[in-house]
Amino acid sequence: MGKVYVLKEPGRDKAWNIYTLREAARLKRWFQGVYYSPRLKRLLAVFKPTPGTHVNMLVFEEIGESVLRDAYKMECPRGCNRCCVIRSGAFIVENELRWLPGEVRDRITRQPSELIRTPGGWVRIYRLDTETMGRCIFFDVGEGSCTLEKYGKHAKPIVCLLTYCTVFATRDGKLYLKKGYRVHRDGRADIHYEEVDKKTWSRMVSRMGSIWARYRKIHREAGREAGT
Ligand code: SF4
Ligand code: SF4
Repeated sequence: MGKVYVLKEPGRDKAWNIYTLREAARLKRWFQGVYYSPRLKRLLAVFKPTPGTHVNMLVFEEIGESVLRDAYKMECPRGCNRCCVIRSGAFIVENELRWLPGEVRDRITRQPSELIRTPGGWVRIYRLDTETMGRCIFFDVGEGSCTLEKYGKHAKPIVCLLTYCTVFATRDGKLYLKKGYRVHRDGRADIHYEEVDKKTWSRMVSRMGSIWARYRKIHREAGREAGT
């Protein structure tokens, strides 16, 4: 049985967090998903690298796979798009570019960038949130999808793979919606999930997707006007 590693909790220091993201990006192809463990009261970014892969234990910790047995898997259903369409804050770490085709890399390296001094040396990050209202450059407004998806499951920036609103979750093939949460002083969180049917789930997706729907309408109208 392979070992399971999770990222340590993020800190308050930006340089440390960027270093963590760079190290996590190295193991991107073994990323399993983000889980909420009611037992640990903690979100877990889970990676399962093949044996022999170097894992940086400064940013990762090993956990027993049994912790995941009662954990909820965070989901990002198609149709919401809230995280991509406005104020996305999206960026990509330089070491992630190597998995992308040349034309995509060129597009990214033309974006504004920032060089950050991290405990592991200088790391460059490229901003992707430079379209109107902070929309990500890779978000297809009409389709409501990330155009990086066509390059493979792990082509998306690590920050997008790790960031979840925690509203939608699945466990043992069942659908759940977040009903409430409480954060303790030590940072641990109680997230309460309630099982729902497909209809209730879809209603929530539509509700969450209303921002994208409005944005798409304005985007289409602006496109029509520009074409006349
Ligand atoms: S708000 Fe949640 S469901 Fe919507 S795009 Fe972001 S992570 Fe996905
Ligand atoms: S890279 Fe893809 S998933 Fe990430 S913000 Fe941009 S469109 Fe969304």
